[in-house]
Amino acid sequence: MSEVPTYHLVCRDCPTELVVETAARAEQRATDHESITGHRLDFKRID
Ligand SMILES: [Zn+2]
Repeated sequence: MSEVPTYHLVCRDCPTELVVETAARAEQRATDHESITGHRLDFKRID
């Protein structure tokens, strides 16, 4: 029932999973994780 889109981030290279509420935040978190670890994350919108 939330009006805010939710994004699920999953790291390809470690067990990290995150759920965030905006695309901007999803990109921010993915970029942070990649810059720290060199890992790659996939994220997809959850309705
Ligand atoms: Zn990772």
